[in-house]
Amino acid sequence: MIKEIVVASGKGGTGKTFISSNLAYLIHSLGENIIAVDADVEAPDLILALGGEKKRFWTEDYYGSFRPVVDYSKCAKCWKCLNYCRFGAIKKSDRGPLIDYSKCEGFGVCAVVCPSKAISLTRVKTGVIYMAESESGIKVITGDLELGGGSSGRLVYELKQRSRKFLKEGYVVVDSAPGIGCPVISSISGADLLVIAIEPTPQSIKGACRLLEVARSLRVKAVSVVNKYDLNPAIVDKIESMLEVEVVGRIPYSDEVVESYTAMTPLLATKSSIKETVEEVLNKILGEVP
Ligand code: SF4
Ligand code: SF4
Repeated sequence: MIKEIVVASGKGGTGKTFISSNLAYLIHSLGENIIAVDADVEAPDLILALGGEKKRFWTEDYYGSFRPVVDYSKCAKCWKCLNYCRFGAIKKSDRGPLIDYSKCEGFGVCAVVCPSKAISLTRVKTGVIYMAESESGIKVITGDLELGGGSSGRLVYELKQRSRKFLKEGYVVVDSAPGIGCPVISSISGADLLVIAIEPTPQSIKGACRLLEVARSLRVKAVSVVNKYDLNPAIVDKIESMLEVEVVGRIPYSDEVVESYTAMTPLLATKSSIKETVEEVLNKILGEVP
């Protein structure tokens, strides 16, 4: 049986990857099977937080979008494609339609409306998916999306599918992208537990609120962890009642967190003064997995 835990935050910079990497490290040190998924595909850094890449197992190309291609021998120059293209990506030429791929969204309306079946769609490589082992011994599956590669939500779905293919039993820890969007919804969808990393700031609480709405609509259990809670203790006590979500742990601000990140070492692998506190919080998270 696989238990999937997703760590997300409604806003960037709240310590999401710090929690994911140390949670993965804890599970690994408990002798459990674990695959960590870095679903922040536009800025993947989970493997760095786990010590960097030691060994690459495999890499595959990811085809995340489509491109229309015109067969001019079939084109009757009726210009129906041009009239239906809402993105102004088609221009007239003597041969038939000319497609400006910098404007094309690739949804293929032109191919659907063409009465001569002169337009077909071809898949376009927009990134890669790979699995590697980190220096701390944890397997990480992640993707690297090319700039403007689009469809990051589908890429996250593909990453999660791979984790289930390579892990028959144990834990999948997903480090989601920040904010709310397709990749985040894709990360939360189907998970057993959502952990929301919150900072005691109004922006972070607002973001957490939106994440909770998503979790509720997807029927995913959610808990929260307040990171750097001591920066604004007064607001922390209110978070639980404001958001109607259980706060399973509070992590204090510490320079050692930044130092461990800079040293590419999970905090649990260091002699940090807050190591025990963090470990206690992470164990509570594990206890919340249904
Ligand atoms: S795929 Fe869509 S955006 Fe691209 S040329 Fe066809 S209709 Fe226009
Ligand atoms: S809709 Fe088809 S036949 Fe008409 S101009 Fe476009 S490619 Fe040619």
